[in-house]
Parts: sequence; structure tokens; C-alpha cells
Amino acid sequence: MIKEFIELFFPNLCITCNNNLLKQEEFICTRCLYELPQTDYHKFPENNLAKTFWGRVPLQHAFAFLYFRKEGAVKSLLHSLKYAGGKEVALFLGRFYGQKLADAGLSYDAAVAIPLHPDKQRKRGYNQSACFAEGLAQSMGMEDLSFAVERTVATETQTKKDRFERWQNVGEVFRISDATALTNKRLLVVDDVITTGATIEGLCKVILAEVPCTIAVAAIATPQD
Ligand SMILES: [Zn+2]
Repeated sequence: MIKEFIELFFPNLCITCNNNLLKQEEFICTRCLYELPQTDYHKFPENNLAKTFWGRVPLQHAFAFLYFRKEGAVKSLLHSLKYAGGKEVALFLGRFYGQKLADAGLSYDAAVAIPLHPDKQRKRGYNQSACFAEGLAQSMGMEDLSFAVERTVATETQTKKDRFERWQNVGEVFRISDATALTNKRLLVVDDVITTGATIEGLCKVILAEVPCTIAVAAIATPQD
């Protein structure tokens, strides 16, 4: 009753097409959900995202749910993660994608989200990558060990540097806070958007240098080339 009363004044709208959602739909309507440009990278181990990490850091797998484009549904979707309700949308996307990965027979022991700098997290209130990771963990039946890594220095100035300098810089900003938790695990390191891969590379290098484990990476989106 109360839910229906609230919806009278705040109708549930699809975050990509703004049409009314049906009762059983969450955040995004079924039509938009199936029209999203999915990469299906989990079906192709030698996909373009995996290739960007070749010779940089040894990864078991690398995949992203969606192709990021300058315009369109994925852009609106990523945009919505930054605002009210973004936490729930990221969690929903994680559960949805995690189910796909699980259905494809993929399994890992634990998810580890790329941490935000504590100041940034305080300002924003949540880490969208961590919410996506939590969703993946729920539908894939794995632990969420995002607490085991932390970011120690802000990295805003990175964009002006070239790739080599950038990963050196990034490499300095991650720290393992609980090596025992990560030891001998098959980890799935999670980010929101992977572009150059420098951030993921930085964190994975720090983990692999300190902890015996294997790493695969997953993201919400990656640019289509
Ligand atoms: Zn829609």
C-alpha cells in the first residue's frame, strides 16, 4: 500500500528511456535491458579488453558487461550511478551480470573492488565499483573482500601524464590492508569503467607482489574500439 502510494507521486522510471517501469521491473525496463550493447567478452577469453593487459599484468580473465559509447543508454546508465539511487543501480547491475557469468560456468572465490580514496568516498557516500562488486558477489556466491585493499593517495593529477608514468603513480596509491584474507584465492578485481587499464594494472600488481593468488578482472563498461 505505502509503496504504491509513494509511486503515485514518484513514479518508477526507466533510467535510460524514462518510461514507466512495470511492477516487476527494477531501474531499467526490460526492453532497454535487452537492447544494451553487451560485450559477451566472457565467452571470448582473447577479447580486446584482455589483450590490453597482455605483457602488463598476468590476468586469468578480463571482461566488461557493456560497451561504453559517447552517447546512448550506457552513458545514461553510468551517469545515473553518480546520483541518488546510484548505489542500488550498481548493485542491480552487479547481480544481473554476475548471473550471466555464473550461467556461463565462471566462478571465483572473492570480489575485490578498486577502492576510492577515503576523502572521495566520504564526499560521494559510496563507491559505485564496490556496489557493483557486491552485486557480483551475491549472484556468483563468492565473498566480497573489498575491505582488504585501500587507496592511500588521490590520483587526480594522473590524466596529464603518459601511460608509463601513470601506472607508476597508480602503483604507489594502493595498499593491501588484509593479505591473509586474499591468500590463495581466485580473485575477481572489479572496476566501473576500464579505459587504459592503468588503475586495474596498478592494483593487480600490488596484490600479486604481496599475495599468492590468481586475478581476473570485470567492469561495468569498456570503450568499443
Ligand atoms: Zn527503458
